[in-house]
Amino acid sequence: MDIQKIREDFPILSRTVYGKPLVYFDNGATTQKPRCVVDAIAEEYYSVNANVHRGVHFLSQQATELHEGARETVRKFINARSTSEIVFTRGTTESINLLASSFGEAFLREGDEVIVSVMEHHSDIVPWQLLRDRRGIVIRVIPMTDRGELLTDAYAALFNERTRLVCVTHVSNVLGTVNPVREMIATAHAHGVPVLVDGAQAVPHMAVDVQALDADFYAFSGHKVYGPTGVGVLYGKEEWLDRLPPYQGGGEMIQHVSFERTTFNELPYKFEAGTPDYIGTHALARALDYVSALGMDQIDAYEQELTRYATERLRSIEGMRIFGEAPHKGSVISFLVGNIHHFDLGTLLDRLGIAVRTGHHCAQPLMQRLGIEGTVRASFSFYNTKEEVDTLVAGIERVRHMF
Ligand code: PMP
Repeated sequence: MDIQKIREDFPILSRTVYGKPLVYFDNGATTQKPRCVVDAIAEEYYSVNANVHRGVHFLSQQATELHEGARETVRKFINARSTSEIVFTRGTTESINLLASSFGEAFLREGDEVIVSVMEHHSDIVPWQLLRDRRGIVIRVIPMTDRGELLTDAYAALFNERTRLVCVTHVSNVLGTVNPVREMIATAHAHGVPVLVDGAQAVPHMAVDVQALDADFYAFSGHKVYGPTGVGVLYGKEEWLDRLPPYQGGGEMIQHVSFERTTFNELPYKFEAGTPDYIGTHALARALDYVSALGMDQIDAYEQELTRYATERLRSIEGMRIFGEAPHKGSVISFLVGNIHHFDLGTLLDRLGIAVRTGHHCAQPLMQRLGIEGTVRASFSFYNTKEEVDTLVAGIERVRHMF
């Protein structure tokens, strides 16, 4: 991959902050956008904009084609069987809330159990807690080793006749651990239990095949995979989505409405109430085209190499503690240095033009497990370079000497 050429596709990467070249290492929070994605948004507003699905006129039909074409692009990208299985949402958080609401309504009764892992993002914990408060369900937690690997035996032991659903992140946004979701799904299926995978940190970095994983539900956000904010996806196997009630009412999700009785639209529209973000879905498709052209396997290999290099360089810093040392990791490194508070380190790195994230990363239960309040997190993309990693290392050394 020609990284310098790729960087030219991302105008923001050539800006400066505080007079220093920007080093953007906050890709786990959101990724930057290539020009083709931003252009797609402007072009559609300038030349195609019209509400989708309900118009007979030219523009509405063209906008509908772009929107439904985007659904096909997503289907292909994650290798779903059918576009009926691709529900557009606002993002991972809404995808999980949709499932919690619909699955909860259809299948969860008092005393039923949902399994989550200790390394889940709050978005995959709180929706289940809300259900616990409303319906009296029980949340069971998969523990992990100190290195940040889920304990598969302990996981297998959590199943019983009340287990209804497993929710697990594909890649941890803090530890970087790539969880063995295929094996975990097989274990759940052996107990007749479906699995939701939170793919927010996986889809941007590796080829994901929902059929090969045999995932029942899979959620991700457009903005973390070089697409726009406000668009996400819930993949669901048709046989499951068919059995779930609608999430919200109104707009595209109906077939016929009378005051006596309303019937619902077919999949996936049953779950898409109101005007969808059709500009966003089209722009997301352009982002997926962009990364597909680079090749997800090439992206994965480059980011792995960069993360290996960064891990090695960071380890050479005195007082460095890295959280998450699973053998199979994504491009995320969480760390603390000596007694320096994560917030101070992040703030001082910012002054050097280096954007990292600090804090609990929306994973407070994981912080409790690790016995810390927060970390500094550097998360990489294919547009990052070893020189930028060197800048980070030099920056940390500088801050360390200040303390
Ligand atoms: N799950 C994981 C693993 C994440 O990293 C994030 C974003 N930090 C989310 C869920 C939530 O994504 P969003 O805010 O786009 O809904």
